[in-house]
Amino acid sequence: CIGFTWIASPACTELEVAMMDWLGKMLDLPAEFLASSGGKGGGVIQGTASESTLVALLGAKAKKLQEVKAEHPEWDEHTIIGKLVGYCSDQAHSSVERAGLLGGIKLRSVKSENNRLRGDALEKAIEQDLADGLIPFYAVVTLGTTNSCAFDRLDECGVVGNKHNVWIHVDAAYAGSAFICPEYRHLMKGMERADSFNFNPHKWMLVNFDCSAMWLKDPSWVVNAFNVDPLYLKHDMQGSAPDYRHWQIPLGRRFRALKLWFVLRLYGVENLQAHIRRHCNFAKQFGDLCVQDSRFELAAEVNMGLVCFRLK
Ligand code: PLP
Repeated sequence: CIGFTWIASPACTELEVAMMDWLGKMLDLPAEFLASSGGKGGGVIQGTASESTLVALLGAKAKKLQEVKAEHPEWDEHTIIGKLVGYCSDQAHSSVERAGLLGGIKLRSVKSENNRLRGDALEKAIEQDLADGLIPFYAVVTLGTTNSCAFDRLDECGVVGNKHNVWIHVDAAYAGSAFICPEYRHLMKGMERADSFNFNPHKWMLVNFDCSAMWLKDPSWVVNAFNVDPLYLKHDMQGSAPDYRHWQIPLGRRFRALKLWFVLRLYGVENLQAHIRRHCNFAKQFGDLCVQDSRFELAAEVNMGLVCFRLK
């Protein structure tokens, strides 16, 4: 099917809503992100984490544009966009920088501490930019960086983001799968302060590529930013279920929720948790072997399934 709207395939849309709720509950995401909470929030399956970062950036840009226009009706859109600035740590994935390029805004790389982005560094960068007349609007917090699987301090960065009305997007592309295990959830502390969250079940949760799970607390910013409404795509049930074409960059979409459904039904939560724990144990064992062997040393703390080691 080509389920760009609910009417194009009700099953495609409705299974996706249900699966994103199942998955969100498995991670113990704050209820505000879930469609079943009855609020604005909800989930969508994107193709990749890069797309999610870009979609969130464009939603944040649309939100800030509207807010600044209301405050400064005399400023034109071009002037406002020229002042927008987003943030990520120097450890963020290259797709974040790319989202900045594609979104046509400045993106600032903030120095990490021990590979982690700390709240005070983010705050300092924001305050400096405010003093320079710029408009901070978006920050990416990475949980499980590509280089060393370090975890930015979401609890601290979330507070700073909320204080300055900066959209917090959480990129947990790889490590997010581990949050199905309660013992790793302390690493997502502060999630209630985020605006959007993404991880790739296709990376570490046994779902075939592609399946990138994204939740938005208030999808209307993205939906409105991406909403062009040609006559030939209209249907008389608009508004009663998400028309996912407004939540993503392409129009047509695959029935990816099927893959998630099959994996969740075939394995069940406990087996998926066992799979994650087994990989983390492998990494711990291999890390211990590196430490015991005088020829090798660890280049970073062993986190999740990643061991960074080198010859001495
Ligand atoms: N974010 C992080 C932290 C990653 O590690 C990666 C890929 O390795 C990405 C984003 C990009 O993922 P995707 O290929 O799904 O765009």
